[in-house]
Amino acid sequence: MDDRDLLLYLRDFGFADVDVSARAAARRPTGPPRGDPLAADDVVVMAERLADCRRCRLCQGRTHVVFGVGDPKARVVFIGEAPGAEEDRLGEPFVGRAGQLLNEMLRAIRLRRGQVYIANVLKCRPPGNRDPQDDETAACLPFLRRQIELISPAVIVTLGRVAARHLLGTTAPISSYRGRWTTWQGTPVLPTFHPAYLLRNPAAKAQAWADLKQLARKLDG
Ligand code: SF4
Repeated sequence: MDDRDLLLYLRDFGFADVDVSARAAARRPTGPPRGDPLAADDVVVMAERLADCRRCRLCQGRTHVVFGVGDPKARVVFIGEAPGAEEDRLGEPFVGRAGQLLNEMLRAIRLRRGQVYIANVLKCRPPGNRDPQDDETAACLPFLRRQIELISPAVIVTLGRVAARHLLGTTAPISSYRGRWTTWQGTPVLPTFHPAYLLRNPAAKAQAWADLKQLARKLDG
């Protein structure tokens, strides 16, 4: 006899104040569902399973695992580097000044933030916004790869050298490959500048605009 049966039994014997539903609810497990994030078959379930990830040291200082945002079936996925302070606080990628610029860039090619998907190489904020360390990216990259596979976009855009390095395996200067199409597992990839770089170097916005026009043509094609 489990607890619920016992409570029903007691109620049959006149213990009218026994609240079966409340006791049963109180015994239900709480907290995020467990399970292998890599075995999830959609990004919402995957995000739930990764919400308390402790697979690398970055879990120690984070507020939120910043999984990604946007249409789970988007035609274009943007990949950045890692959450910053605002992203960590709010649990959403690209919400600070760089995020506002990314939103403007999207609007310039008639895309809304909700029509695309935005994620980072790392899902937890490195302290002081330092570069990701190799063991951290080794721990986290399988989740990004699976995330992209589940979304199955028509196009991927890498934002900045860190995203290109870890997704495409290039350590060349970004100026040598930005705006040049390549592929990741058969999906076209367009590397361009990170919006944070564009905020520091406004002169590079002309090149970023050229890249955006290429992206728009690809999506229209
Ligand atoms: S950075 Fe990635 S692997 Fe490390 S704790 Fe966060 S979600 Fe897990």
